[in-house]
Amino acid sequence: MDHMPWTSADGAVRDLRKRPWRDLRISLTDRCNFRCGYCMPRSKFGPGHRFLPQARLLNFEEIAQVARQALALGVRTLRLTGGEPLLRRDLPRLIGQLSALRTLDGTAPDLALTTNGSLLAAQAQALRDAGLNRLTVSLDALDDAVFRRMNEVGFPVAEVLRGLESARSAGFTSIKVNMVVRRGVNDREALPLAEHFRNSGMVLRFIEFMDAGRHNGWKLDEVLPSAELRERIAARWPLQPLRPTRGGETAERWRYADGAGEIGFISSVSQAFCGDCTRARLTAEGRLYTCLFASEGHDLRPLLRNPHAGEAQLRERLAAIWARRSDAYSEQRERLSVIRIVRPDMHVLGG
Ligand code: SAM
Ligand code: SF4
Ligand code: SF4
Repeated sequence: MDHMPWTSADGAVRDLRKRPWRDLRISLTDRCNFRCGYCMPRSKFGPGHRFLPQARLLNFEEIAQVARQALALGVRTLRLTGGEPLLRRDLPRLIGQLSALRTLDGTAPDLALTTNGSLLAAQAQALRDAGLNRLTVSLDALDDAVFRRMNEVGFPVAEVLRGLESARSAGFTSIKVNMVVRRGVNDREALPLAEHFRNSGMVLRFIEFMDAGRHNGWKLDEVLPSAELRERIAARWPLQPLRPTRGGETAERWRYADGAGEIGFISSVSQAFCGDCTRARLTAEGRLYTCLFASEGHDLRPLLRNPHAGEAQLRERLAAIWARRSDAYSEQRERLSVIRIVRPDMHVLGG
């Protein structure tokens, strides 16, 4: 690899707080067939909402170019997200392209995808066959009425559960289920979901409702701190802490003492984990954000669409962006929210 001022001898890049770049989340579309109130509430994203036209989305070759150079700078995990990523046509072709790339150590990248699960039953096998390693399915309630209310399009929970079963039959061994918990809205669903996924081999993770974007009417009273939720669960099924499997992990891991499996807590509000944050996000139209709360992204499209720009230039641009990063929004939330930064929406950044 050519020497660049931003990288260490092994080619990996670190930011101003010495955090390496390990994860790239790639949003494949800003479109979604759900209208979850905490992300794209129907009141703000009605029939008149204009999504990005197809021509503005990065094509698969452009996405793969960014991924290839990110891997050359130390990234190991590529996570596909959205909007709803399963709405992107021909997705297995992209997965095939990405799984053929290599990390700095010469291994295949860890390829993961986050979905609302609504279209999973039909696509799980093709995704698996194309080389997808890991799946995360969002599921905020087990009760059908609560679930339909939360997705704001009346989508039935049974279809998401069918998607999860199809994923298991397709051979996925690493399946996580993410529940965003809002106090007074769906927190009573936490125990039924925990019970449902005990002994299933799937890992349920509870996410604190975050103040992302500008449209979800976030209020601190609706955040149920993970510690409180963990106590509720442990009162029913005693829990034991587990060690993190890798640095930069977002979830705190616990196991049921009776051996029924593992659960996780993502405490982005009550316990910031910026010190360990190794993630960047690429939007569907090619902007790179170094923090979920960064007010601006770096537009990579001019470089990607410049016929005279080569791979080395793209790698250098990415390295320079990461090397200058100092973001730590969650650690500074209280001070920063007074200033009211303009935050991009979750369905644009991919969560
Ligand atoms: N549509 C896919 C899905 O829902 O899984 C992928 C995109 S979605 C933006 C990615 C993740 O962000 C989901 O697990 C979702 O629950 C989470 N998310 C969205 N808005 C959130 C918020 N305000 N607080 C916490 N998590 C949020
Ligand atoms: Fe769609 Fe996912 Fe946002 Fe829900 S969380 S509206 S499924 S992008
Ligand atoms: Fe990473 Fe920004 Fe979230 Fe902190 S606030 S964990 S730096 S994305």
